[in-house]
Amino acid sequence: MKHLWEVDPEIFRAIYNETKRQHSNVELIASENFVEMLVLEAQGSVLTNKYAEGYPGARWYGGCEYVDVVEELAIERAKELFGAEHANVQPHSGAQANMAIFYAMLAIGDKILAMNLAHGGHLTHGHRHNFSGKYFEVIPYGVSRDNERLDYNEIMDLARKHSPKMIIVGASAYPRIIDFKAIREIADKTGAFVLVDMAHIAGLIATGLHPDPVPYAEFVTTTTHKTLRGPRAGMILCQKRFAKKVDAAIFPGIQGGPLMHVIAAKAVAFKQAMQPEFKDYQKKVVNNAKYLASELAKRGYRIVSGGTDNHLLLVDLAPRNITGKDAAEALDRARITVNKNLIPFDLKPPTVTSGIRLGSPSITSRGMGTDEVIKICSFIDRVLTSLGNEKIVETVKKEVEELTEQFPLYESIRKEMKKRID
Ligand SMILES: *Cc1c(COP(=O)(O)O)cnc(C)c1O
Repeated sequence: MKHLWEVDPEIFRAIYNETKRQHSNVELIASENFVEMLVLEAQGSVLTNKYAEGYPGARWYGGCEYVDVVEELAIERAKELFGAEHANVQPHSGAQANMAIFYAMLAIGDKILAMNLAHGGHLTHGHRHNFSGKYFEVIPYGVSRDNERLDYNEIMDLARKHSPKMIIVGASAYPRIIDFKAIREIADKTGAFVLVDMAHIAGLIATGLHPDPVPYAEFVTTTTHKTLRGPRAGMILCQKRFAKKVDAAIFPGIQGGPLMHVIAAKAVAFKQAMQPEFKDYQKKVVNNAKYLASELAKRGYRIVSGGTDNHLLLVDLAPRNITGKDAAEALDRARITVNKNLIPFDLKPPTVTSGIRLGSPSITSRGMGTDEVIKICSFIDRVLTSLGNEKIVETVKKEVEELTEQFPLYESIRKEMKKRID
C-alpha cells in the first residue's frame, strides 16, 4: 500500500501543518473544539465507502447490516443523552438540520420569528442571503439595549402582532442562559411551534449545565462539533409525533446518502458525553469562560451583558477605539485565534465589527485551566493595547508557544507525521 506522504505530499504537508497549527495556537473560537482520537478513528474508517440511503432496517442498498448497527447505536445514545423521544443523526451539518425542519413544517412565505443575526442569531435563522431569509417571512427579535439580554416581553409582543408559524431560539453569539420555558409559553399563546437550535450549547445541555430545551420544543437541532466535541455534523431531536416528517425531510427531502463514518463518530462522541468526565469537562468550560470574562473586565474591557453563563463571551472594543477586524488580525499574528463579531447595536458593518467573540471549549479540552486563562488574558491585553506594535506581537507569540508546548495536542499524530516530512 502506498501512503499519503508518498503519493500526495502536498496534501500530506498541509494536514501536518494544520495539526501543528492547532497544537501551537491558543484556540478561542467559540464554535470549535478538539475531538478525542476515538472520534478521529471512527471518522477515518472504511464506513465512508458505504451507501446507506434510507434508515436502519429500511435501506435502498444491500450490505447495510453493519452500518445499521452503527446508526441504531447513534440514535439510541442521542435519545438517552438528551432524553428525547426521537433522534435523526443523519444531518450533514447544523445548517442542514435546520433546513430539514423548515422543509418539514413550513410552506414558502410562512412567517418565522427568529433572533437577529446582528444580536447573536445564526445565518439559517432567516438571514437575507440564506435560504431561510429568501423563502420565508422573517420577523427578527433581539436583545434589549439596557442589559443586552433577550427580552421575552418583546418576543411576546412580536409573536402576538405577527402570529408566526415557527419561533426559533438559539444563538451563535449569546453568552446568557436562554429561557426555553418562556419561549414555550409565548408559542402556546400565539399558536406557533418551537425550534430550539442548541448548536453552541449542546454539551452544556447534555450535562445539565444549561436548562434543557427538550421538554419545551417540538424540535431541537444541534451541531455535534461545538461544545459537544464530536465530528463536524448535525442532529435533530423531536417529539415522536413528528418523527416520520423529520426523517422524510432529511431523506429523501434534502439529503442523499448519510455519511456513515461521521455517524459512527457521532455515536462515539455521544457515549463519551455520557461519562462523568464529560460533565467535569463542561464545568471547566463554563468556569474558564467566566474567568476569561472577569480577567478581561479587570483589565478594563467591556464584556457584552457584563459576563457569561456559558462557554462564550463577547468583548466590545468600541470604547477602546479598536475594530473587531483589527483585533482579530493582530491576535492571529500572535497565534491567538478569535473571530471578529458584531455586538448588539453595532455601528460597524459585519466585515469590520466592534467586537470579538471568545470561547473556552478548545483550550479546556487540551487541559488549560484558570492559571492559563489569566496568562491568555494578559497576552490579549498586551496585543490590543499596543495595536500596530509588531514587536509586542512577536514577544507574545513566543510566550504563546511556551504555553502551548506545555499542553501538547495530538502529539502522537504530529510525531508520526513529522517523521515522514523530514
Ligand atoms: C454553528 C451553528 C449552526 C450551523 O452549523 P454548521 O454545521 O456550520 O452548518 C446552526 N445554528 C447555530 C446556532 C450555530 O451556532
